[in-house]
Amino acid sequence: MRKLFLALLILVGAVHPAFAKVNVVATLPWIGSVVKEIGGDKIDVTTLVKSNQDPHMIEAKPSMLLAGRKADILMFNGLDLEIGYLPLIMEKAQNPAIVPGKPGNFDCSQYIAVLEKPLTPDRSMGDVHPLGNPHYHFSPINILHVARGMTSILAEIDEANADYYKANLKKFAARMDEHKQVWSAAPLNGKKFIAYHRLFEYLASDFGFKIIGYVEPKPGIPPSAAYVQKLAESMKTSKPDAIITTAYYGKHESEALAERTGSKIIALPHDVGSMPGTEDWFAFMDKVLSLLR
Ligand SMILES: [Zn+2]
Repeated sequence: MRKLFLALLILVGAVHPAFAKVNVVATLPWIGSVVKEIGGDKIDVTTLVKSNQDPHMIEAKPSMLLAGRKADILMFNGLDLEIGYLPLIMEKAQNPAIVPGKPGNFDCSQYIAVLEKPLTPDRSMGDVHPLGNPHYHFSPINILHVARGMTSILAEIDEANADYYKANLKKFAARMDEHKQVWSAAPLNGKKFIAYHRLFEYLASDFGFKIIGYVEPKPGIPPSAAYVQKLAESMKTSKPDAIITTAYYGKHESEALAERTGSKIIALPHDVGSMPGTEDWFAFMDKVLSLLR
């Protein structure tokens, strides 16, 4: 009878069967990387967006719905970064476990302190950051909070392995401490940069440097010639240490500006896996900070 009851519970999804791995669907590469650190061999991770794609510009594909259908947990960046495909997955995947309000609907941004949060969301003129800056994966402080949140949800959904997840979080936090010691040795405090896109606000906040101008007048809006002219003019007096960009955001415009002003240009990886030597989140941050030094 007890066996039958358990089997029924499993059928209705009330408990996670102890023999199965938790099926995690992550939207972005950094999310997949961090959750793998916590979930280890107790989870299977499918990442929807490739590291050579611009995360603002992704559209829904049938393969995403299929992945969503089988997910125990859908983990996403939030702050509307996945607006092009995430609502559709939640709606059309026909999976009650991942709809908003359920534990399997996991918004990583709920664990972070949002920067550049507007008083009222505004998408006018194509602003792609209407709920505040979504690029917090460059912030060790925030990522540790997200990793704690991931641990809680994995322990809740897969109670049998709760201690395993908690032990992995401890290892993650210890690794974070080791890396922080190396990162804090990078003399970035007081440096000033021009950036193409508002990707590096959290990084600047964690490491004490300043972004003093943007090549994009608004997130997602390419600059006019007149705007670039004005920016180049202002750089004569502001004298930034470098222009920072990535391979996928305004590389061409940033290079043109660097040539025009004689500024140094630094291309950073925008996510885990987007450059050689960025295989996991720690390696990604190592790369970012070593390139900025
Ligand atoms: Zn953005």
